[in-house]
Amino acid sequence: MFFWRKKPAEPGAFDAEPEPEPASEPEPTPEPEPTPEPAPEPQLEPAPEPAPELQPAPDLAIGLERTRGGFMARLRGLLGGGPEGPSWDDVEETLIAGDVGAGLALEVVERARQRRDPAGAESAVRAELAALLAPRDVAWRPRPSVSGGPAVVLVVGVNGTGKTTTIGKLAARYRAEGRSILLAAADTFRAAAIDQLRIWADRAGVPVVAHAPGADPGAVVFDALDAAVARGADLVIADTAGRLHTKSNLMDELAKVRRVIDKRLPGASPETLFVLDATTGQNGLAQAKAFHEAVGLTGIVLTKLDSTAKGGIVFAIEGSIGVPVRFVGVGERAADLVPFDPEAFVAALFA
Ligand code: GDP
Repeated sequence: MFFWRKKPAEPGAFDAEPEPEPASEPEPTPEPEPTPEPAPEPQLEPAPEPAPELQPAPDLAIGLERTRGGFMARLRGLLGGGPEGPSWDDVEETLIAGDVGAGLALEVVERARQRRDPAGAESAVRAELAALLAPRDVAWRPRPSVSGGPAVVLVVGVNGTGKTTTIGKLAARYRAEGRSILLAAADTFRAAAIDQLRIWADRAGVPVVAHAPGADPGAVVFDALDAAVARGADLVIADTAGRLHTKSNLMDELAKVRRVIDKRLPGASPETLFVLDATTGQNGLAQAKAFHEAVGLTGIVLTKLDSTAKGGIVFAIEGSIGVPVRFVGVGERAADLVPFDPEAFVAALFA
């Protein structure tokens, strides 16, 4: 196991040397070289740094500019029509084109029509869209569920959706709030993933626990939890290898990581955040369902909402698995992660 660190060393914690092997029995005869773990150079950042300041989060309406100019512009045009009211078929079609999903689009239109809202069709559709999103605590934070233990966040999703970027953003956010964080590089499948996580860790000024590429992801998470407990860290965020939701063996491995957490921190209920790329649209729903079955998701981070004109996926994803969207990603900077507030979201869409 080795760590990368940005923080000043605390006595006894996060030693700069790689962990010594446990004292071995006296060796009578020299044995053939045991196949050693590839011993990477411990890569420790020398200079202690304070938590970097996080830039202010972008305005949601700016992050949603494409969606607002995309299907929402068409929707607002239809709903703001003359006194005879909109063509409800066109409204339904536009909602479907915006990734709200056929079933939900039909429901929204039916209910909006029945409202006979004196304030007009736009007000009716807006209210029905808002009603699809369950109210939630916007100030949500991952919390320790075991007394004295760290909070644990497992980040899962298909490769390329933005998992590592999201972990970096979360680390920066919570670090700026003064929490002590440790990242677990449990995507051991790709060597580049470990490096990429390290880059984000450096930016946020947080340490990483990593093993060699190809190592058992469960062992990485176990070691990270050990280190977090020893160090009194507040939060462990674990990266995981991107899974094709159709590959059952990979999904099993993820379930195993989940069990490792239960074993090391009995009673802990880790947050399992599913990262969904908003640009994948309705395809993402099948991914979400498969991950939910395998590991039990507790939250969703919808990334790249700035890159799609079809932000209606927000409504579809919550409806399909009944798990709240916790954050939306609206850019590539550390600050481009916005806690999801349904009211503010709908207001920004109709602004
Ligand atoms: P991973 O394979 O799931 O870990 O995905 P990465 O974190 O490497 O992200 C894949 C790509 O998506 C990178 O180029 C990121 O910069 C980009 N990305 C991630 N989140 C966002 C976002 O919210 N907005 C935009 N525009 N790009 C994002």
